[in-house]
Amino acid sequence: MPDLASPLIAWYRDNARDLPWRRPGFGAWGTLVSEFMLQQTPVARVIPLLEAWLERWPTPADLAAAAPADAVRQWANLGYPRRALWLHRAAVEIRDRHAGVVPRDVDDLLALTGIGDYTARAVAVFAYGDRHPVVDTNTRRVLARAVQGRSQPGPAAKRDLVDMAEILPDDIAASTVVNAAAMELGALVCTARVPRCDACPLADRCAWRAAGYPDTGDTRVKQARYEGSDRQARGAILQVLRAATTHDVAAEDVIGDWPDAAQRDRAIDSLVVDGLVEAVDGRLRLPR
Ligand code: SF4
Repeated sequence: MPDLASPLIAWYRDNARDLPWRRPGFGAWGTLVSEFMLQQTPVARVIPLLEAWLERWPTPADLAAAAPADAVRQWANLGYPRRALWLHRAAVEIRDRHAGVVPRDVDDLLALTGIGDYTARAVAVFAYGDRHPVVDTNTRRVLARAVQGRSQPGPAAKRDLVDMAEILPDDIAASTVVNAAAMELGALVCTARVPRCDACPLADRCAWRAAGYPDTGDTRVKQARYEGSDRQARGAILQVLRAATTHDVAAEDVIGDWPDAAQRDRAIDSLVVDGLVEAVDGRLRLPR
């Protein structure tokens, strides 16, 4: 495989965005929270809510001591609010199992609620400086094109981990930079729709470019429309319950004018099943 690490490191030095979680001393808890938030939400929306979150709960123990309802409220409009609940549970587990310190070991991280392979590796690498391949959707796209000669990532994420491991330099500090650089290149240059190959440090060694940009298919799962979806109904219900800080709300009054009553009921049921809403005597509230 051609050397991709050296051009990535040089490019990252000159082009990396100044993001809160990249600043020295940001800490493992900040990294963990930011990774939860970034899983499905764009950077610009995450930053203000991340800062407010860490100001309110600067340690896992601080969040663990709060009610889950407070976490769901503070999550505001970041979307996919189960992440707030999972983050709260993870904070409780960190307090109870790890003396309040975010663990460093990937298996310990994987054992926490809401943490998958990507987040566990990201925390070990970006917070603790360890050497592991870290592969998010942006990195997968860079690997698909530069290494595998494909237009979009394939279905097997395991292969991407293997490819990323091959690219990483032996030097531990350099390996963390390469992980971050591949991600950043995918976010800024090798974008999904129109890659900017003229600005890419891998242009002279990119397999997809060398092959003439063949269309090798796209197996990515398209996100369903938000408008009119159950997700939208769930969001509207949570918005009402977030605002109700002093009282529970009668179930029939929560988005009572929703145009599709069956969808509304389904959304309430699914929120209860997810633990995001509690139903007590016909009234709804955020989890205590
Ligand atoms: S040369 Fe183009 S397609 Fe290849 S990695 Fe760079 S931006 Fe992506």
